[in-house]
Amino acid sequence: MTAKAHGLEEECQSILEATGLTEDQLNLPTFGQPLTPPKPVVPTYQANWPTKATSQSIFEKALLGQVEGLSLEDEPAATNGLGDEEEEGAAKRDALGEADEDEEAGGWDMGEDIAAEADEGFVTVESTEAGGAGSSEAELWARNSPLAVDHVAGGSFETAMQLLNRQVGAVNFAPLKPRFLEVYQASKTYLPATAGLPPLVNYVRRTVGESDLRKVLPIIPRDLEYLASNDLQRGYDSMKTNKLEDGLRIFKGILHSVLVNAVGSESEVAEAKKLIASASEYAVAMSIELARRALGPTDAVNKNPALLKRSLELVAYFTIPKIEVPHRQLALLNAMTLAMRAKNYNSALSFANRMLANGGSAKMLENVRPPVPPSHHKKILTSPQARKTKAQCERNPHDAVEIEFDQFAEFEICAASHTPIYSGSAFEECAFDGAKYHAKYKGTVCTVCEVCEVGKHGSGLKLFA
Ligand SMILES: [Zn+2]
Repeated sequence: MTAKAHGLEEECQSILEATGLTEDQLNLPTFGQPLTPPKPVVPTYQANWPTKATSQSIFEKALLGQVEGLSLEDEPAATNGLGDEEEEGAAKRDALGEADEDEEAGGWDMGEDIAAEADEGFVTVESTEAGGAGSSEAELWARNSPLAVDHVAGGSFETAMQLLNRQVGAVNFAPLKPRFLEVYQASKTYLPATAGLPPLVNYVRRTVGESDLRKVLPIIPRDLEYLASNDLQRGYDSMKTNKLEDGLRIFKGILHSVLVNAVGSESEVAEAKKLIASASEYAVAMSIELARRALGPTDAVNKNPALLKRSLELVAYFTIPKIEVPHRQLALLNAMTLAMRAKNYNSALSFANRMLANGGSAKMLENVRPPVPPSHHKKILTSPQARKTKAQCERNPHDAVEIEFDQFAEFEICAASHTPIYSGSAFEECAFDGAKYHAKYKGTVCTVCEVCEVGKHGSGLKLFA
């Protein structure tokens, strides 16, 4: 019966033969109509499906290579009409039809754009609390500030990215994601309310005494002072303790945190710039030394003349970035030791001279020499290691391995190729951290901050409005 009911005639016949029954003896029950799901009377999905005009994200633009000419003309129409110009243009648009909407949006200034882009989800929940005309506090932050960080806190990541692109030529935002999320999360607290309802959102301001809604701004986690007294010190420690991978990560983290930050005064802007420059120099120095260590184990490098030459060059370049003097001494000691080992007495002599010019650090030299009685401490303070090397090298001042390192020339180190850029030759730099590059690296992503495009000059990083 089952075979018959499912239309399996052959199967049915074979069963009938096996059982000795005929088809007439089977009594099939009658089937009803298949159940059909009810059809919608009114296709509501056509009428009230939430529609939001899509705009090309900064990533899509970057992929399409449009970032260079990023202008408002590229922007598709914004979602809703809040702007005055929208109203003015309404009559005209009626005459010309919907297609003109893109052009209308082209005349919007930055502020209008932000208002339209803010997350609509917040508006319904917060409109009463914020007191503004249907705008949440988060939306106000983005509207009140020209700083990227305030847009991030307000959840308007896209406009924040546009601002960074214009200010410092930022193109690669992936490394900034942790910082974006940190800033976004830190400016809100959530209080559970009635079960089943969303929690009450409390927006945390940095402008505590401000009552004018046009001036309220969000609190920013890990401000300049915190970075200088925590992250920077940890970075210094990792330099001292030779944990360069950690150090490199810390200094890049500092750069990202300063890039998405705000300060309270012009003098703090100068401090921020100093911090950026310092973190950048350390990042370059550490990546040079890490590149040298990546050449391979010492034995292998010593056997290969090309690797040995490169190794001696890199160790010499490690002494070039403008890092703090005690740390530069470490770099010089490192360079001097390696140069001596390779019988590059002339180079070793120049490193020894520079160490002596910087003044000796007793602690550092104790580490490389066996402990000596206290009566000899005075001697250590004047860098016996460097003095010894100097005396030894002056007897035979020339290099066994020819390297590209002119101790008397002024030069900077290219952050991508780790080769010298002599003063007077063409170079490009990162608009944010000031890392220098050979001209051929124009248009690549900066290896120091990993965010900005080399050679792209924006209006400059804005940290204070
Ligand atoms: Zn950079």
